Amino acid sequence: MKVAIVTGASRGIGRACAVRLAKDGYTVVVNYSRSEEEASKVLDEIKSAGGDGMTYKADVSDLAQVKQMIRDTDRKYGQIDLLVNNAGIVRDAFLLALNMDDLSSCMELNVKGYFYCAQQAALKMFRRRQGVIINMSSVSGELALAGQSVYSATKGAVNSLTRVLAKELGSRGIRVNAVAPGFIETEMINALSDEKKEEYLKDIPLHRFGKAEEVAAVVSMLASDEFSYITGQVITMDGGISL
Ligand code: NAD
Repeated sequence: MKVAIVTGASRGIGRACAVRLAKDGYTVVVNYSRSEEEASKVLDEIKSAGGDGMTYKADVSDLAQVKQMIRDTDRKYGQIDLLVNNAGIVRDAFLLALNMDDLSSCMELNVKGYFYCAQQAALKMFRRRQGVIINMSSVSGELALAGQSVYSATKGAVNSLTRVLAKELGSRGIRVNAVAPGFIETEMINALSDEKKEEYLKDIPLHRFGKAEEVAAVVSMLASDEFSYITGQVITMDGGISL
């Protein structure tokens, strides 16, 4: 048995990762912060396909809640093999109109939350000298999109921490990689106006948005033992928008 924790797994990319990893044979902890009903539906889907796991309510921008989630998962299953740091928010605004509460909440979840989960999971992975951490980044970590300074800064931080943690944890048998998706069809994209969507589509060589399942496929690949020599990498999957 292998155990995976996917943060923010009640919908979107996190949901797709949870479902895919269950198909790959992982027992999956479906983390959510508010939407218990959606998280339960994800677990039902996993179970009806023959998989196993549990839902777990925790705000991953709160260290005490992260500690409890990791402790409870370890107590229940005895091991943590994979952490997918996925929960993230977007707070777009031009600098001159930036609301500092938005800056804080984005930093708390997209950066500090990733550190909290990585540290607490790594403390368990250490013992068995094996484990995989996959951080959900974004092309915005590299690409400069006006109005996205906060989100870009958080994803740039995710790319940097991925590389440094890979170096620190490699000798303990823990691999750390990141996936940097471009525009993926989730609530995040659905919230855009049709005009804005068309504008972005023009810049995407594959001329379509990606699917959450396609992101989950890359996560599945990076988690797999077949790719066990890959660490410290940020894998971009964006239909070519960053070219
Ligand atoms: P989404 O808004 O659909 O889902 C985010 C999930 O995180 C939700 O389940 C939400 O409940 C959960 N969440 C929010 N705050 C949380 C908290 N404090 N603790 C625990 N869970 C929390 O977003 P998505 O599009 O699926 O994005 C998932 C990740 O992928 C994010 O890190 C995002 O930055 C990244 N990403 C998304 C896209 C895209 O186009 N959708 C592109 C690149 C990167």
